Amino acid sequence: MPASRVINFGPGPSALPQSVLEKATQGLLNFNETGIGIAEISHRSKEFVAFLSNIESLIRTQLDVPSTHSILFTQGGGTGQFSAVVLNLLARHRLLYPELTADERVMDYILTGSWSEKAFQEAGRLGGARVNVALDARKYSKDGVSFDNVPPHGEYAFSPAPAFIYYCENETVDGVQFSADPSAQTSFPFARLPRERSGLLPLVGDHSSSFMSRPIPHLGEHAVIFAGAQKNLGPAGLTVLIVRHDCLVDVDAAAKLGAAPVPLSLSYKTLADSKSLYNTPSMLPIYITGLVLERMQELGGLTYFEALNKKKAEKVYAAIRSGEERGVFQGKVQDGSGSWMNVVFNVLGDGAESRFLTGAEEAGMKGLKGHRSVGGIRVSLYNAITESDTDKLVGYMKNFVSEAGA
Ligand code: PLP
Repeated sequence: MPASRVINFGPGPSALPQSVLEKATQGLLNFNETGIGIAEISHRSKEFVAFLSNIESLIRTQLDVPSTHSILFTQGGGTGQFSAVVLNLLARHRLLYPELTADERVMDYILTGSWSEKAFQEAGRLGGARVNVALDARKYSKDGVSFDNVPPHGEYAFSPAPAFIYYCENETVDGVQFSADPSAQTSFPFARLPRERSGLLPLVGDHSSSFMSRPIPHLGEHAVIFAGAQKNLGPAGLTVLIVRHDCLVDVDAAAKLGAAPVPLSLSYKTLADSKSLYNTPSMLPIYITGLVLERMQELGGLTYFEALNKKKAEKVYAAIRSGEERGVFQGKVQDGSGSWMNVVFNVLGDGAESRFLTGAEEAGMKGLKGHRSVGGIRVSLYNAITESDTDKLVGYMKNFVSEAGA
C-alpha cells in the first residue's frame, strides 16, 4: 500500500472515507462479532439480515422515504436498471391498460446527457412500446451537438399518457444536473408532468451519481428511483431502488396479457417479496455502504451533506470563473445547469490540459481527466471529498491560472 493515499476526484468508482475503509477491513475478518468475515458469512444469517434492514432504515430516515415506497437492493448497476425499468413499468402498464397496442403505449425520455441517452437507446432495443423524446437538451446547447444544459421548463413535450417518464438527475459525464432550487427554470418540471387517471405520476429517476448527496425533491411522487452505489455510497456491485408499491407488479400476470416476459431477478415484486434476498446479494459492497450510511447519520445526514456539497461545488465553479477571466479555463456547462457532483471544464491552450493533469497528480490529486467521450477536466465532488480536499484543488487551480497568465 502506498504510504499515503492521494485525493481521488474520480467519477466512480470513487473515493470512500478512510475511516470507513479501515473499519471495513475489520469486517472482512470478523463481521459484527460473528467470528466470520463479511465475504464469508451467509446472506441469510440473522446478523446480515439485521444489517441489511438497518441500511434500509438509514436510507429511509435520511432521505425521508415515505411508507408508500419500498427500498430494495439489487445488482446490475444503473445499466441493469435501464432494462429493468422498461420491463417492470411496461408490465404494470399492460395490467392497467391491456387494450392498448404497442404503438399506443409510449415511454417518455428526457435527454440531458450521455446516461439518459443510453437508457433511451436500451428502451428502443427492448421495444414493447414507442419511445418519445420529451426533450433533447442538445437542441438548446451552445454548439448544437453537446449536452451542456438543462433547458427551461417551457421546452418539454410530454405524451398525454405515457407508461413512464424517464430522467437522469445528474449527468455524470456531461456535468449537467437539475437545479436544487425549485423556483429555478432548470429545476425538474414536476408541475408540468402528465398524471395518470389515478393522480399518480409514472416518474422514473436515475439518481446514480447524486444519490444521498442532497434531498430528492418530490421523492414520494416517483414511481422508481434507482442508483448504483459506487459514487456517494460504497463500492460498485450494489444498486439501490426506491419503488412505489403500485409498481411492484405480478410480471407473469402481465406476460399472460402479452407483456414481455421479465426475468425474475429483475422483477421489482420478486425483490420486494424476498426482502432483497431472492438470490445472493453483493455482501461486501452492502457492508461498506452500511458503514458509509452510519457515518453519514453521525455527521448530520443529508442536511450536513447538502450544505457541504453546495459549498464545495461553489468553490470549484468560482475557480473556473476566475480562470475564464484570464483566458485559462473555459466552463463547459451553461449557467444554472452545472452539477454539484461532477464539475467539467476545459483548460485552454496547446498541451495545457495535460500539464494541468500532470501537475495535479504531482500534487497528490488524481481522477481529474474528463470522460473519454467529451475530454476536458472533470472534478467529481462526491460525499467522501472533504472541504479541505476541495480547497487543495482550488488552490492548485488558482496557482495554475496565475502561472499560465504570467
Ligand atoms: N447512470 C449514471 C448517471 C451513471 O453515472 C452511471 C455510471 O457512471 C450509470 C447510470 C451506469 O451505471 P453502472 O456502471 O453501475 O451500470
